[in-house]
Amino acid sequence: MTEAQVETKQFQAETRKVLDIVINSLYTERDIFVRELISNAADAMEKYRHQSLVDKPEFDNHMPLEINIDCDDKTHTLTVTDTGIGMTREELETNLGTIAHSGSGNFLEELAEAAKKDVNLIGQFGVGFYSVFMAAKKVRVQTRSWDGSEGHEWESDGGGSYTVKPCEGLHRGTKIIIELKDDAQEYGTKFTLERIITQYSTFVPFPVKVEGKTVNTVQAIWSRSKSEITEEEYTEFYKFIGNAVDEPLYQLHFSADAPLAINSLLYVPQENFETLGMGRMQPGVNLYCQKVLIDQHSENILPEWLRFLKGVVDSEDLPLNISRQTLQDNALVMKLRKVITKRFIKFLAEEAGKDSEKYQKFWKTFGIFIKEGVTTDFEYQKDLGKLLRFESSAGESGQMISLDEYIDRMKDSQENIYYINGPSRSAIEYGPYVEMFKKREVEILYTLEPIDDFVLNHLGEYEGKKLLSADRADLRLPEKESDAEKDETTEQGKKLEAEKITELCSYLKEVLGERVKEVKSSDRLVDSPAMIVNVDGHMTSSMERIMQAQGGEANLAMAGKKDLEINPASSLMKKIVGLKDTDSNFAKDIAEQVFDNAMIQAGLLVDSQQMVNRSYRILEHVAGEE
Ligand code: ADP
Ligand code: MG
Repeated sequence: MTEAQVETKQFQAETRKVLDIVINSLYTERDIFVRELISNAADAMEKYRHQSLVDKPEFDNHMPLEINIDCDDKTHTLTVTDTGIGMTREELETNLGTIAHSGSGNFLEELAEAAKKDVNLIGQFGVGFYSVFMAAKKVRVQTRSWDGSEGHEWESDGGGSYTVKPCEGLHRGTKIIIELKDDAQEYGTKFTLERIITQYSTFVPFPVKVEGKTVNTVQAIWSRSKSEITEEEYTEFYKFIGNAVDEPLYQLHFSADAPLAINSLLYVPQENFETLGMGRMQPGVNLYCQKVLIDQHSENILPEWLRFLKGVVDSEDLPLNISRQTLQDNALVMKLRKVITKRFIKFLAEEAGKDSEKYQKFWKTFGIFIKEGVTTDFEYQKDLGKLLRFESSAGESGQMISLDEYIDRMKDSQENIYYINGPSRSAIEYGPYVEMFKKREVEILYTLEPIDDFVLNHLGEYEGKKLLSADRADLRLPEKESDAEKDETTEQGKKLEAEKITELCSYLKEVLGERVKEVKSSDRLVDSPAMIVNVDGHMTSSMERIMQAQGGEANLAMAGKKDLEINPASSLMKKIVGLKDTDSNFAKDIAEQVFDNAMIQAGLLVDSQQMVNRSYRILEHVAGEE
């Protein structure tokens, strides 16, 4: 071998940091490196199995697909050999020298955080291979690609660099030779290895042999009949497929023969990894055909908003030699996706009916994905309406209800479903928008998350009932038959006369100018002097707030059209009528302050400096009179 063929390379900077994190923060959980190596070996064999169906390779095609683990407790070495797809020189350098995720911003900080919190999160990041350096002084990776090209050996001590050189006489696949650290010698013993494999790798779909003896039972649990599978087996399989240590929140084992042959086993985890600061999740469901893995972390078999699920889908109807590229527009895959997605939505609805407390836990953790589905996936939007949960004026704080429950309680005279967004339950309940709802005893949903109004707006209607935000200008509430007349007078007394109302409205419009489209007398306010309503029925104040937050100043100009509705029975409003002729500056300040207050109650932006200056003027005026 010439010297030119031996290359010493530096790890990419990110890789060095990952190595550092893995070696220094995870060493208490060293066992997992065995699991990571076995899972890489199994992945490589799944890839070969699929490749051989597509390409019929000839090189070394007689070799059985299995993982061999050998150890020597004299020399303290451990060897993991697979007959998988192997790696070419380029693949060696990209796969074991760089990190695919490094592009995503603060990935490393997130990894460091996750590593501190829970070592098992590490599996989710796909930095599995480097975990070998928790136990290794030195690692050699000898590998030869399935295409029969020249084999290579990669070597590193986990410091800053590695070497790559050609290596003769290799079979297809990869052999990882680990020289154990002095304090990690237990990994050179059969006993320890068998213990770890039975703990973590029972479901690896290939024989795993330690010193020639198979230590796992190879089985595709999802294709067995439900009655034969124990709860423990289901949980163990979840741990294997989801890289998890806990139990799943829900599991659905679903089989069908017609119109499509499907065996699927889906799990909902306990945690939402996206909110644990891990960035966007990879899909967690793998697609199989006759127990052969066709597409790992499949983007195609389920819609994106179900990426939090873990598990497998197996269908005998798929052609075994389908390539990953053609999966995307394969009609059969689309059909499978539809059947499974609908089944899963139905499953969740059933579970919610059976145990609403458990469903609340699901909703708190994964509701955000269901909402994402409503806003992004027209195909399942209507089905997903059933799964939505919101707080409501009829319930206690923290209690969530479904749209179905809301409809069940609706009075005969009510045609629509109403909702209002606010930062908290109490902000909504003390605000102007629910006053008439309370008075007429009409239930209203409280949407407490910023995204909720987009969700309900996308949904548009549910079971034939329109979904309407209470800050719409054109809202007409159903009458409360018994005391329709009482609306003539409010708690605060008699309304202004019609003539005065018109005068007041045009005065306010003059003061507020372009800030409002119209100023109108309200038939919805009970106690508050005024409120902002949106003329464009599709835009709620909450949606506008989000868009302002995203676009800053530029979007202020694009704000939706608003009306100011005033309460003709409010004593403050009555006072403005007189003041505008006797003390016009003061009347103008009050009018503008009323407008700003209403904007604030709608959750919209006001010019705070102007408002503070004005309120000092008002205070001074009031104090001066004393
Ligand atoms: P992940 O398995 O999540 O991709 P790893 O750090 O475990 O991340 O492995 C990095 C990459 O190295 C793998 O994606 C694969 O391409 C390659 N690799 C690792 N082990 C093997 C192996 N035994 N055979 C073939 N390729 C492997
Ligand atoms: Mg891996």
